[in-house]
Amino acid sequence: CEALSKPLPARELKAILTKYRSMFDCSPDALRTALQNQEFFLKLQPKLALRERVISGFEALLRWNHPQFGEILPNKFIPEFEKHNLFKLLSDYVVEHSCISVKKIDASGCVPIQTSVNISAGDLSDLELANRLKRICSSNFVDPRQITLEITETVAMADPVTAMDNLTRLRLAGFKLSLDDFGTGFSSLAFLRNMPFNEIKIDMLFVREALRSKSDQTIIKAINSLGKAFNMSVVAEGCEDAETLDLLEKLECDFAQGFHISRPLTVDDAIEFLHSHSN
Ligand code: C2E
Ligand code: MG
Ligand code: MG
Ligand code: MG
Repeated sequence: CEALSKPLPARELKAILTKYRSMFDCSPDALRTALQNQEFFLKLQPKLALRERVISGFEALLRWNHPQFGEILPNKFIPEFEKHNLFKLLSDYVVEHSCISVKKIDASGCVPIQTSVNISAGDLSDLELANRLKRICSSNFVDPRQITLEITETVAMADPVTAMDNLTRLRLAGFKLSLDDFGTGFSSLAFLRNMPFNEIKIDMLFVREALRSKSDQTIIKAINSLGKAFNMSVVAEGCEDAETLDLLEKLECDFAQGFHISRPLTVDDAIEFLHSHSN
């Protein structure tokens, strides 16, 4: 019919695509097959040291290069892995691929830098976690001290006793630990004091409006003093412009991440970025 022969407006096309993307197959078999076929890959987002203004590391962020629907963001598929209890497979995959990119970055002649890896909710209840991750690092010839594991506040709070046990084992194995999305979950100050984190990441909720919001600035400043008192470095997430970057430095954040510094990059682009931003 005539309507079908006309090209669809971009907005409608986008809506249809979004609808299909939310319908992709997330059965356990489909997820396993996609992992086996290496359809997942990592993008690396640079992390900037504010005082020195040098790139001090990358955060590995997972993407699904779906054969039908193209690049899919993690919020769409990570909950599916968790729902089907496949998070171990996923985290092993992510740590292994992070090790591969660490080796590639080191081999490119850059100074060795830190790579941060997000691990899943369920991981923290597996007491074999530290051994599992240590084994993956050693079979890829990567020192665990080059890897920072990011854990969200909510995840670490679900079972604090087991979490504490696991976090201690991870530290003993050499991994660094980062408390992700801080300030929006339910952790108490006692929790922060007792857990062996090396780093706190301020949730972007407080960063994105910081220029206009005095109360967000107060919160950022308070988290920075907590970080100093507990000997943890502080990273601000979601820095989207130069003015915010200057403000974060003034408020004494140690590090910043965000689209203003760089969007997440492919491993090759990340290496190029690193070379062009090192003095
Ligand atoms: P996250 O760990 O808090 O990662 C930060 C998210 O913010 C990333 O989204 C990143 O692309 C985005 N972002 C960075 N800078 C900016 C900015 O300036 N503005 C805005 N609006 N956004 C910014 P992404 O890649 O979609 O990841 C979303 C979440 O998915 C991550 O939040 C993390 O919790 C989870 N995730 C990502 N990769 C993995 C993984 O390999 N394993 C697990 N378990 N979770 C992962
Ligand atoms: Mg993270
Ligand atoms: Mg975060
Ligand atoms: Mg997040």
